[in-house]
Amino acid sequence: MSRIAPRADLQDLAGYHSPQLDVSVRLNTNESPYPPPPEFLDAWLRELRAADLHRYPDRLAGALRQAIAERFDRSADEVFAANGSNEVLQTLLLTYGGPDRRALIFEPTYALHAHISRLTGTRTITAHRGDDFLIDPRSAVSLIEREQPEIVFICSPNNPSGTIEPVDTIAAIADAAPGLVVVDEAYGEFATTSALSLVSEERAVVVTRTYSKVWSLAALRLGFLVGPTWLVAELDKVVLPYHLDVSTQTAGRVALNFVADMESRVSRLVEERERLFRALQDLSEITVFPSGANFLLFRCHGGGHAVWQALVDDGVLVRDFSSWPGVEDCLRVTIGTPEENDHFLAGLRAAVARK
Ligand code: PMP
Repeated sequence: MSRIAPRADLQDLAGYHSPQLDVSVRLNTNESPYPPPPEFLDAWLRELRAADLHRYPDRLAGALRQAIAERFDRSADEVFAANGSNEVLQTLLLTYGGPDRRALIFEPTYALHAHISRLTGTRTITAHRGDDFLIDPRSAVSLIEREQPEIVFICSPNNPSGTIEPVDTIAAIADAAPGLVVVDEAYGEFATTSALSLVSEERAVVVTRTYSKVWSLAALRLGFLVGPTWLVAELDKVVLPYHLDVSTQTAGRVALNFVADMESRVSRLVEERERLFRALQDLSEITVFPSGANFLLFRCHGGGHAVWQALVDDGVLVRDFSSWPGVEDCLRVTIGTPEENDHFLAGLRAAVARK
């Protein structure tokens, strides 16, 4: 038997690990607890039935891009769409990263920024957020001036902390950056501010979004970015032809006819987030961080992993960050339905009382 080793720089790569355990309450991957409305399903399937399945899909996903562009008052050539915002990020790095380039990442943040950088051979420069998980704009600007990274990642609201980065900070970074600035707004609709206003033809700022969270379509894999037309044109050359299948393109376009349903799901989740936030604030064994997303990060004084295990034993799966640098002893809970959140709260109260 002859085997081949992975590329030398990938040999000690750890894969993406967020366990998919069989429990009754799954609050670990920031999906929506609510499915899309039945009217959406009917409209989507009706269109799919009429699709030419023997033909390749529209390579540029023109109708989808047009619909997304209209929602943001932009033009279709400022929109790029792919299979989840992860593929959008990957296409950005395939196009603008590579062995002779560096990406600046403010940790702790979404692990895939560093992971995809590495997969594409892009070196990373790691900077650190403050205790409040915000980026200090002054030190970020001087770091950028000194290091001149080709790519800068900013995640807002930041995963896993939930922190909303002030638009002024993002603007200062964009002014200082010599190259691409990626603002990952996967949780954008849950927040009060957005960097979309910074997108223009004059600079390489892109804002990425996803259908996985607010649009309740995680199973379909659809994400997009809004950015300058000249940058979108480069991405179109790099991404695989026909990468976005017809069912996903159609779903993304049809979903946009159900904005009011989406907004009502989002406001229910924001209300629940605030209820859960207050309840966690009342627990002296825990510090909870303010969040502009559909999840909350909290630190368990005296050990996060044991609390995670106790919750799993109680049928509740949250995300265990307890051994991650910068978020030691922290767990992240996705906002679920009120019943799921109550189940989580009861389990958490019991777990911390037992310690
Ligand atoms: N960015 C952030 C910050 C995320 O948390 C996620 C999902 N965990 C993604 C991007 C990727 O989302 P998707 O590929 O499902 O669009």
